Amino acid sequence: MHTKPKNTDAALMEKQSFDVTSIKADFPIFAQEINGHRLVYLDSAASSQKPQAVIDAIDRFYSTDNANIHRGLHALAERATSAYEHSRTKVAKFLGGVNREEVIFTSGTTAGINLLSYSLGEQIIKAGDEILITEMEHHANLVPWVMLAKRKNAVLKRIPLTRDGRLDLTKVNGLLNSRTKIVALTHMSNVLGTINPRTEIAEAAHKKGAVVVVDGAQAAPHMPVNVKELDADFYAFSAHKVLGPTGVGILYGKRELLESLPPFMTGGEMIREVNFDNVTWNEVPHKFEAGTPHIAGAITFETAIDYLEQIGMENIRQHEIELTEYAIEKLLQIEGLEIQGPLDSSIRGSAISFTVPDIHPHDISTFLDSKGIAIRAGHHCAQPLMRALGKVATARASFYLYNDESDVDALVEALTEMKKYFRI
Ligand code: PMP
Repeated sequence: MHTKPKNTDAALMEKQSFDVTSIKADFPIFAQEINGHRLVYLDSAASSQKPQAVIDAIDRFYSTDNANIHRGLHALAERATSAYEHSRTKVAKFLGGVNREEVIFTSGTTAGINLLSYSLGEQIIKAGDEILITEMEHHANLVPWVMLAKRKNAVLKRIPLTRDGRLDLTKVNGLLNSRTKIVALTHMSNVLGTINPRTEIAEAAHKKGAVVVVDGAQAAPHMPVNVKELDADFYAFSAHKVLGPTGVGILYGKRELLESLPPFMTGGEMIREVNFDNVTWNEVPHKFEAGTPHIAGAITFETAIDYLEQIGMENIRQHEIELTEYAIEKLLQIEGLEIQGPLDSSIRGSAISFTVPDIHPHDISTFLDSKGIAIRAGHHCAQPLMRALGKVATARASFYLYNDESDVDALVEALTEMKKYFRI
């Protein structure tokens, strides 16, 4: 429906197969009305909705397969273990075909980055060393590094932004030096939508011997990701933004790095041998998975990825490019409305932050909610970015595979009505 015309039969079939109406029908949440209106869900950057297949898979796990993993020798434990490990293999393929041992199940992006800020941070950061982040980071990829820098007396530096919300690449080389040990950046900004040119930054960082950590929370749901091509040493994302359950995510790490790192959490399952005076660690990835994980979550993460892959990540990206272009064009027709971040759809994702003069983003969100439209308003867990933009908050509409032009039209119509309501 929204894929760009290409001249092959396969492309034509793809185009016909991207049918938002039938995709939406797979998501039971859309069967309801909110405040007397159809639900227009434009908050997928915060969390995505779940298809029936994922909801059914969670139900099925607890109804028929529930048991703890890795330890039991009975049928249910073996079934649960094999599904859990199968999901790990699926995620490894989703990231462009990495080794399954390089995929650690975590409770989400935040947990993955915190793991690194301790394991990696404790191992490689010394007083006077430098950690380089960017001005557009979500607190999840910012606060752990602030705290690491404080613990170690290290220096936290940041890549500034251009006026249109991209990283100022002219500053990168000047910020890197032999003391730079970690470069941590987001693949796609949750506020500006900007897709960062990680490959160039990774190359420059690696030349200085730094380790590159990529926050993939916003990119992984919306575009094909190949961590080897990105040359990311670590890549973290959350299942709940890719149609899966909350409370589960993954941290990818290059095998040799994972093997050399100390564990973050200790306890059951992550050990090889335990004595009162000495403990040896299990092999990766188990060394980093202490305790009982979110088994149902990890298993149904696979169902979510299956759903996305059946539609095709490339098709989803293409659909969102077209929807973003349409939304930007329509939104900019509203007098005074200002979009934060680049307008060029080839370097941005589908999260669009905007402000309307004299109407607080919280009021925008509340007004839209009265029309059944869910957006996000606030600082989006990026307070330093808000300061750099000179804003206290923005409104953010974010689109996914189940949104189409009628959702953009509903948003624009409601915003126009809102301006009349506030007499602006
Ligand atoms: N990084 C970015 C860019 C995000 O958008 C988010 C979620 N809003 C996170 C990290 C944190 O993800 P989670 O809350 O799932 O750990």
